[in-house]
Amino acid sequence: MNITLHLHDGRKRTCHYSDGDKHVTARGLHCECSRTSDLIVAGTGRHREQDEHGESEDAACARCGGSVGRLVVVYSTLFGRTEDVAVLHGRPRVY
Ligand SMILES: [Zn+2]
Repeated sequence: MNITLHLHDGRKRTCHYSDGDKHVTARGLHCECSRTSDLIVAGTGRHREQDEHGESEDAACARCGGSVGRLVVVYSTLFGRTEDVAVLHGRPRVY
């Protein structure tokens, strides 16, 4: 799974996720509410889009709730989620 923060100004930054966390960290970026700490980002659930290969939603600073851009998640998948599950749990397929 690859998580990228797309900032309002067009920059993109890879985010780091700890299993079990409800947020990700964008190292080297800072919010105005905490200028000396790395930006901690959480999805807002707003404008959520999802397809076979990933999903995205509006993102906000986890500390103050200020809008920072969009979080874009790309799944680790070979053929898309549905097809991967079918391949793993179903009959062999010929491509
Ligand atoms: Zn903030």
